[in-house]
Amino acid sequence: MSKAKPTDFDWANLDFSYHDLPFRFRTFYRNGRWEEGKLVTDSQISLSEASPSIHYGQQVFEGLKAYRRPDGGINLFRPNENGKRMNRSAKRLLMPEFPVDRFVEAIKQVVLANKEFVPPYGTGATLYLRPLMIAIDSVVGVQPGKEYMLNIYATPVGPYFKGGLTPTAFVTSQYDRAAHGGTGRAKVGGNYAASLLPGSKAHETGYSDVVYLDPIHHEYIEELGSANFFGITKLGQFLTPKSPSILPSITKLSVLDLSKEMGLKPAQVQISINDLDLFAEAGAMGTAAVISPVGSITNQGEKHVFYSETEPGPITLKLYNRLTGIQFGTETGPEGWVIDLGK
Ligand SMILES: *Cc1c(COP(=O)(O)O)cnc(C)c1O
Repeated sequence: MSKAKPTDFDWANLDFSYHDLPFRFRTFYRNGRWEEGKLVTDSQISLSEASPSIHYGQQVFEGLKAYRRPDGGINLFRPNENGKRMNRSAKRLLMPEFPVDRFVEAIKQVVLANKEFVPPYGTGATLYLRPLMIAIDSVVGVQPGKEYMLNIYATPVGPYFKGGLTPTAFVTSQYDRAAHGGTGRAKVGGNYAASLLPGSKAHETGYSDVVYLDPIHHEYIEELGSANFFGITKLGQFLTPKSPSILPSITKLSVLDLSKEMGLKPAQVQISINDLDLFAEAGAMGTAAVISPVGSITNQGEKHVFYSETEPGPITLKLYNRLTGIQFGTETGPEGWVIDLGK
């Protein structure tokens, strides 16, 4: 595959797909320690055919973005939180932790080395970064590897849900994403493998993605595909589900703070699929999804419409503007959320 060039891109019409940029960061864990690591040009990776990452799913990943400001500078949004979460995921799969300060440093290196691929401000597009840690050595029985690779690539992306702030339709699934004592809280590929079938069934029947319900009662909302759920009650309160198998979204963590700042009295509580009438608005939260309005949820053949199927609700829009204002540097957010990488 040939390397992408900045002139290849129509920034305002980017989709969510991979492009082979000039540089990625790569480091190896051998003999019980992480090597220094460096930027490399080769986008192919090499590993043992017996690696537990490909046989037993011993792999974790992250996702974050770099944002172009109106003044031409570049922002990172809370990359330290991604570093911390990657280490929590790694611990769950008996993989080595990578120091958070080195993680942030590596992210900076990848963005700066590919900076002409950070899309211009105003196009809605961003540079997506994908850290990946995998076992690379040989193991036959079920046991963890001893050697690992951490690779961080970047690719320019447009909005994840086509239409951006246009509400989309979701449908509940009989499948589970994760079990309470399983790996739902860890950002691991196995959770995504389990979501491919229900996701594709939802797409085939005209839905944007699946609403996963809790794996015990099939009643309480867990996640919306690969994003966290929120609802704004008719009394104006911000609610998001509480469960041990939800992936703790950094977007959600941030929106919880911002909704508090806006007086929305945020709370994390169990949310029953039978109580959708409580909500005036609903949405999905994630780095890729940003804040996406949910137009409707269909459960057992019954469609529940929230604010509107064509327009975002006013509080959803306010949260979206506040969050993206901080990320793109047009508004000041809480201390330490944004790292300024300069121009
Ligand atoms: C990554 C992810 C999210 C979103 O997390 P952010 O940190 O906001 O990007 C939500 N749900 C799942 C299952 C995820 O993997």
